[in-house]
Amino acid sequence: MSEPQIISNPAEVQKIARQWKKEGLSIGLVPTMGYLHDGHRSLIHKAAEQNDRVVVSIFVNPIQFGPNEDLDSYPRDLEADTAVCASEGVDIIFHPEPKDMYGEHFLTHVAVDDITTVLCGKTRPIHFRGVTTVVNKLMNISKADRAYFGQKDAQQLVVVKRMVKDLNMDIEIVGCPIVREEDGLAKSSRNKYLSAEERKAAPVLNRALTKAHDLMDAGERNADKIRQTITEELQKEPLADIEYVSVVDAELLKDVEGEVTGPVLVAIAVRIGTTRLIDNFSFGE
Ligand code: AMP
Repeated sequence: MSEPQIISNPAEVQKIARQWKKEGLSIGLVPTMGYLHDGHRSLIHKAAEQNDRVVVSIFVNPIQFGPNEDLDSYPRDLEADTAVCASEGVDIIFHPEPKDMYGEHFLTHVAVDDITTVLCGKTRPIHFRGVTTVVNKLMNISKADRAYFGQKDAQQLVVVKRMVKDLNMDIEIVGCPIVREEDGLAKSSRNKYLSAEERKAAPVLNRALTKAHDLMDAGERNADKIRQTITEELQKEPLADIEYVSVVDAELLKDVEGEVTGPVLVAIAVRIGTTRLIDNFSFGE
């Protein structure tokens, strides 16, 4: 097990990546905000399988957080993260400070229209612009051939794929399945915020989605019926406060009215106490 290099300077990572490219080595990038769990590990594992070199970025990106969000309290544990990366054979942990990424007079953003103003974009208006900007920077710094993203953040995956397509970026985006706890709760660094009581309530998200998925497996195609089934299941849990329950087409994320006829994303956001959780499934892809 070799120790990954931990580097904070973008130019230093770029220099190593340039050398790797010269040697004809392929590079996989896994962008994360750290506090790594088995969901992240599955992405890193796949990146290591498919590439000669792996760069994991650990960066709590300030420009994707709104003013009343959890930027300051976001959990951090570089030592534990380093152990995860070492056990997966990661070559570089890119761990910049905000000043390394956004020095004085930072003026350039990358923004994707339309599909960033729905679902999570409704309550997090600047979020995806922050994500696409940082992901662009991370891709340019690491010179990656492939970048790995979880289906857990389904809208993020759709937005990043759209950006890469629209801007002819020469990188492959690899989507990876959601990794869950035994009781079905999707693994997330933010699950740490849940009290014991809230943690017991949290599997309601997966329960509601599973019910909808079963219904669709049995042939149900009415989008309102699917939304209603999920909403009713969530409402059985007193601690659950629904932000949205959506059935949208998988590419442009427009609400499906009437019957589901093509690939859809069924996505929800729910507050349990003060913690905002998201979950989803894709159908018909
Ligand atoms: P984050 O550190 O939360 O920004 O997540 C970094 C990457 O890991 C994103 O592409 C997420 O979609 C992915 N990820 C987070 N949780 C999971 C999970 N439970 N299963 C699969 N991928 C995940």
